Amino acid sequence: MQHKVYWIEGDGIGADIWKVTKPVINVAVQKAYQGKEEILWKELLAGEKAYKQTGEHLPKETLEALANAKVAIKGPLATPVGTGIRSLTVAMRQKFDLYACIRPIKWYKGIIPAVRHPENVNMTIFRENTEDVYAGIEFQSQQEETQKLIHFINENFNKSINTKCAIGIKPMTEFGCKRLVRSAIQYAIKNNLPSVTLVHKGNIMKFTEGAFQKWGYEVAKQEFAKQTITEQEVREGKNPENKIIIKDRIADAMFQEALIHPEEYSVIATTNLNGDYLSDALAAQVGGLGMAPGVNMSDNLAIFEATHGTAPTAAGKDIANPCSLLLSAAMLLEHIGLEKAGYAIKTAIQTCIDKKTVTQDLAKEIENATSVRCSEFGNLLIKKIENIEF
Ligand code: NAD
Repeated sequence: MQHKVYWIEGDGIGADIWKVTKPVINVAVQKAYQGKEEILWKELLAGEKAYKQTGEHLPKETLEALANAKVAIKGPLATPVGTGIRSLTVAMRQKFDLYACIRPIKWYKGIIPAVRHPENVNMTIFRENTEDVYAGIEFQSQQEETQKLIHFINENFNKSINTKCAIGIKPMTEFGCKRLVRSAIQYAIKNNLPSVTLVHKGNIMKFTEGAFQKWGYEVAKQEFAKQTITEQEVREGKNPENKIIIKDRIADAMFQEALIHPEEYSVIATTNLNGDYLSDALAAQVGGLGMAPGVNMSDNLAIFEATHGTAPTAAGKDIANPCSLLLSAAMLLEHIGLEKAGYAIKTAIQTCIDKKTVTQDLAKEIENATSVRCSEFGNLLIKKIENIEF
């Protein structure tokens, strides 16, 4: 059977990590299924490569193909800070309503972690991907339209915003928050996980972040009453009967909890900006961004992606770590039912870490490790996969 997978190379180190990733995936699928399953690769242009060839960063052909696609996988795309184009990754999330950003975070044995008990970190973050301050509704300071808006708010809502302010708007809907929490709870049920924690900053932003907490508990109560129980009910002595415990934490407290009591957290459902911070911080706790996979999903389309950026200083030097893209590829393979191939990639990566032959960024995180180039690392993975017995 052929599985069509769209791929976007990405900017910066995108080309370096793809040179390694595609052959590794092909070998893993071949080894696991002996020619019965095959990936049919279709490249889509985005970012600088697209701009050079078409004059657009996100060409119409790419958008049309993704509109009808089921799965895609992408490298990182560059975004200038402060001025210039808006993030292409964020644009794709919004255009295709990829409302859940899912990032599993676990420790790979052998990597020197930032925490004492990395083995206790095994969390999957569900980050809302389409709303919040990421909606990009911002007004520059001291511009005419900004001042109009400030005057309107001050006059009509009895506020006293300084007229020289820059303004950002944080839209959050009941629909958007509920569908994110719903998919997090469904994931916990499917994977037999013990808890879902709603992370928010509702003590300060009561009508946005606070509403996320309220709507999250409502979904659990209205749609998953048989499978879930709240932490409060557990404290009151109700028997959880192995039900999934729904808890909530204020975002700043959650950063402490993730360091001190990570074993108490499993699935995390959170808003867009909190999720951005939390997923990078958790990845760093157990060995860095170079190892963290991710996917952005709607109900129809899943775009898997390396979670790091374009690492411009490493681009073209064959030194980048391809593990984030490879582990995202393993998630993609599991998503399309090729679990054995995903398993082969993950096992080969762990074996390379056990043997202490890794790319230079990881070599710094492993005692007495030998650093190899990105392409050499890819060849090592292929050899390991060829020797895996299923
Ligand atoms: P970055 O992730 O590119 O780099 C942060 C640090 O990590 C750098 O030291 C870099 O060399 C290192 N690094 C990252 N990935 C690595 C890898 N695979 N192997 C080895 N080292 C790696 O983050 P940044 O510098 O903040 O951003 C650079 C660009 O990437 C920006 O334009 C930003 O907008 C973009 N970006 C894109 C995405 C995405 O497309 N999903 C995500 C984050 C950043």
